[in-house]
Amino acid sequence: MSTRISIIGCGIIGATIAYELSQSTEYRIDVYDRQQPAQAATGAALGVLMGIISQKVKGRAWNLRRDSIRRYQTLIPELEQIAGVKIPVTQGIVKLLSPEEDLAKWVELATTRQEQEWKLEVWNPRQTLTNLPQINRQFRGHAVYSPQDLQVDPVALTTALVAAAQLNGVNFHFDRAIESIEADSPDCCDLLTPDLPTLNSDRVIVTAGLGATNLLSPHAPIDIQPVLGQAVQIRLSQPLGNPDLQPVIVSEDVNIVPCGGNNDYWVGATVEFPLDGVMVAQGACLERLYQIAIATCPDLAQGEIVRTWQGLRPRPNHRPAPVIDRVGKNHRILVATGHYRNGVLLAPATARIISDMLLV
Ligand SMILES: Cc1cc2nc3c(=O)[nH]c(=O)nc-3n(C[C@H](O)[C@H](O)[C@H](O)COP(=O)(O)OP(=O)(O)OC[C@H]3O[C@@H](n4cnc5c(N)ncnc54)[C@H](O)[C@@H]3O)c2cc1C
Repeated sequence: MSTRISIIGCGIIGATIAYELSQSTEYRIDVYDRQQPAQAATGAALGVLMGIISQKVKGRAWNLRRDSIRRYQTLIPELEQIAGVKIPVTQGIVKLLSPEEDLAKWVELATTRQEQEWKLEVWNPRQTLTNLPQINRQFRGHAVYSPQDLQVDPVALTTALVAAAQLNGVNFHFDRAIESIEADSPDCCDLLTPDLPTLNSDRVIVTAGLGATNLLSPHAPIDIQPVLGQAVQIRLSQPLGNPDLQPVIVSEDVNIVPCGGNNDYWVGATVEFPLDGVMVAQGACLERLYQIAIATCPDLAQGEIVRTWQGLRPRPNHRPAPVIDRVGKNHRILVATGHYRNGVLLAPATARIISDMLLV
């Protein structure tokens, strides 16, 4: 008999887990979300996947990144074929280093990546200005180019994951909030909703982002706090720089992301913690972001701001991100949340870990 699995939350984490598990005939899967898919943090994300270019070289933090980047190489074409859609992707990330930055650290990272059979190039200031005509001609620093890292449209990706999982038999229930989980019985878990009879399942996977804290509070103290991010979309009349080399550019932690055929660029994102427990989007943070972007690529100042948006990243308090664990007395509840700034990046590796945990 198949194992009944309920997944609570259909952001990038829940959708990726649903799709990866749907490839096994052992599971009967239902996914619940209190809204439509990819509306919460995932709907605000820029989808920049900083894997190879991250400074992590070993341990859990690197393994999660490495496994995700590897899986993305096959996942995107696979989904495009199954779901019959195009998922917008930007290939390559360039990080601009300020002249004060520790260059030796990046040269060492490039060597390590070569040993790990990944590519990472350190460009000198002249190469940087030649390869990226869009950046400020006053720039005098080095840059790090990661051709195998990418950016993916998080909403298009989540939508494709949902479509592909549906084709594999997963049942999605949108606009359906789960109020609580009861896991006292040794045989099953009960999900309680405001208006339906109790929903039974063998295992529950909580991928509810910020909603995980409330859902899990009777079972385990998992404190997930919001960290706000704001971003803008700027429309230009022509692409920045060389149309044949349009990587994501990262300068002072601000991402400039080429996105789509409209000569549009996403610029983001701010990192704003609650002040005295209150979360308010700071205009000054957004202005600083914009100023860094136009100081980096001055032609952005000629563009029109066509959209600004914000979202709340789920960040675990007092423990490293992300939280991927078993909780509750009978270990029937699994949790995958708190991916903070890297949920899109880490979704495939998270799904792999959850899949392995289900086997135990
Ligand atoms: C501005 C911004 C930029 C970002 N940029 C990047 C980036 O470039 N790269 C990257 O990797 N990450 C980025 N992130 C982080 C990324 O967005 C998150 O880490 C990721 O989206 C978390 O995914 P999730 O599925 O865990 O959560 P969410 O997307 O928040 O999904 C959780 C879902 O659970 C549902 N839910 C909650 N409670 C319940 C309940 N009781 N019942 C039913 N459903 C429930 C919600 O409706 C929601 O759909 C960014 C975030 C922001 C805000």
